[in-house]
Parts: sequence; structure tokens; C-alpha cells
Amino acid sequence: MRKISFYDTKPYDRIYFDELKAQYGYEIDYFEEKLNPRTAIFAKGSEAVVAFVNDDLSAGTLKVLYENGVRLIAMRCAGYNNVDVKYAQGKLQIVRVPAYSPHAVAEHAVGMLLMLNRRLHKACYRVKEYNFSLNGLMGFDLYGKTIGIVGTGKIGRTLNEICQGFGMHVLGYDLYETPDAGITYVSLEELYRQSDIISLHCPLTKENYHMIDSRTLGMMKKGVYIINTSRGSLIDSEALIAALKSGQVGAAALDVYEEESDLFFEDNSDTIIQDDVLARLISMPNVLVTSHQAFLTKEALQNIAEVTLSNMKAYFEGVKTGNEVTLQ
Ligand code: NAD
Repeated sequence: MRKISFYDTKPYDRIYFDELKAQYGYEIDYFEEKLNPRTAIFAKGSEAVVAFVNDDLSAGTLKVLYENGVRLIAMRCAGYNNVDVKYAQGKLQIVRVPAYSPHAVAEHAVGMLLMLNRRLHKACYRVKEYNFSLNGLMGFDLYGKTIGIVGTGKIGRTLNEICQGFGMHVLGYDLYETPDAGITYVSLEELYRQSDIISLHCPLTKENYHMIDSRTLGMMKKGVYIINTSRGSLIDSEALIAALKSGQVGAAALDVYEEESDLFFEDNSDTIIQDDVLARLISMPNVLVTSHQAFLTKEALQNIAEVTLSNMKAYFEGVKTGNEVTLQ
């Protein structure tokens, strides 16, 4: 049996991997710890490591893994901005799950938008206290509003379909346009200027780090809603706070946060959060933060397990799948 080390394990991660691992002939060591230079040694004796979005796959970690016999890193996610792909080249093969359920993420983005716009988070608490007042709960019709989708890949296009169903106007910006998607493509600046709601669905790269900052926030419509289910570092959080305080941004739905890796996925309810920026965002009535949860559906977890296990099988059999991460 091939031995696999699995990091940052939560009970929901195990369900489908446990169901499928025997048919692939893998023995999986599940670790609750995140992968980093200190925990990498746990993988000694394993041929492959399964890692996730908040694991640290910098050169220091990859060095320890490589020196201890690991040759394959199977990311159980699409993004790999946390992997030093350059360092891995020629030593470790990186594979990923490019698509597991664009619906899961797009539907979560819409759920957050509806919650913020119709103040459902407040309404829910009010009614639990038998407070049936409607004061302060007024939203707006999504019908007829303009949403700007940055990154019209699998998730962005799925969101487009949902928004078309609401009767919204959809503007898109992408480095590579999809002509038949029914999206009106404009420049990024036009998208910022014209959109009532802006939703981010592009990967995080060196070029678009903090693409939403004080300068670009200033181009947007006053009261714009911003949704980020992509990667936290696309937004300069301090600039977002200033824009929320001034009313330039009407509301923000954040499933990701630039400093999330030490906090998200963990129960911190008994500790004092040291991150004042995150604490300030969470304190605002027009900000909704979820803990990188957009992917969390049964369908997505099942697809993640199936594709991760078949990616590993293909690697061990010397077969290419197209899910290999290569240096751009
Ligand atoms: P995808 O590869 O299908 O689409 C990404 C699109 O972004 C592509 O069309 C690409 O051309 C475009 N793009 C790249 N750089 C860009 C830039 N600088 N400006 C504008 N567009 C750019 O990926 P996807 O499956 O749609 O996923 C999108 C992102 O969603 C992922 O990169 C990941 O960061 C995030 N994601 C988050 C969760 C979650 O749980 N919150 C889950 C899955 C994916």
C-alpha cells in the first residue's frame, strides 16, 4: 500500500477520501496540523502529501518533504498561490483539482449577496428575540442592477448564469474573454465605474495583488457591494475598511481574507483575536465574513476526493492528466 500524508484535516475532509481510498490502494495518515516547515517531517515515509489552501508550501517546507522522500504534492483545491512552484520544479510534482464545483462557490457568493442586501443576518437575530420591526432592513432589487465579474472562468461564468436569472446586467473582465458566455466584456476600469456589485473570481497572482485598493475603490460607484470568494490578497483590507467607513463601499461579503491562514478553519471562539483589521471588518454591520467556506458542499468534497485520488494514481502510473501545475 502506498502511504499518503494528509494535512489540515477536518472531519468533513475524511468522508469521501475514506470511502474511496481502499479502491486506490492508499493508506492515508491524517494530520490535523497545517503543513509548514515544522510539520513537514510528519510525512517521512510517505510518497505523496495532500495539502489545502492554507498550508504553507514555501521552499522551506518543500525542502523537508523532498529530503524525506516525498515526490508528489496533491493539492485538494484549485488555487496554488501558496506553493513555491519554482522551488518544486524538477524535485516535486504538484497536481491540483482545477474544478470541483463552480456551483458551490458561485452559489455561496450569491448567498452572501442576498444576506447582506436583504439584511437576513440581522432579521434572523431580531426575530429570535421576537423583535418583528423592519426598521433598517431595507434592501434593493437585484433585478436591473449591474454586477461586474472579475475573472470569467468556471466560477465567474456560473455566477453569470445565476445573475442572468435574476435579470441583472452582467459586465465581465478577464485576460481571456469567453465570447459566447452572454457577458458584456469591458475594461477593468469600466467594470469598476459601472457596477453596483463587484464579485472577484480570478486567481491571485503577483500582478493582481491588492487590485482593490484605495485608488480603485475611488473609481467605483458610491455604495458599491464587493464580494470576494477568490483570494484575500486581491483586496487591501485596510483600504476596504476606510471605504466602508466613508460609505464609498456599501457592503462587503468576504469568504477569504488576506491573513486568513492562521485563523480560518479553526475555532477561535475562546481567544482574543489579535488581528485588528479582521476584527474591525467582522464588527461592521454591512460586512459578512465566512471562513473560506464557499467550496463546502457534498458535491464539491466528493469531486475533490475523486480527482485528488485519480491525480495521484495517474502520477504513480506515469500518466499525464493536465492537472499538473507547471511554472508559468
Ligand atoms: P478558472 O481558472 O476557471 O477561472 C479563472 C479566470 O480568471 C480565468 O478565466 C483567467 O483567465 C482569469 N484571470 C486570471 N488572471 C486574471 C486577472 N488578473 N484579471 C482578470 N481575470 C484573470 O478558475 P475558477 O475555478 O473559476 O476559480 C477562480 C478562483 O476562485 C480560484 O483561482 C480560487 O482563487 C477561487 N476559489 C475559491 C474557493 C472558495 O472556497 N472560496 C473555491 C474554489 C476556487
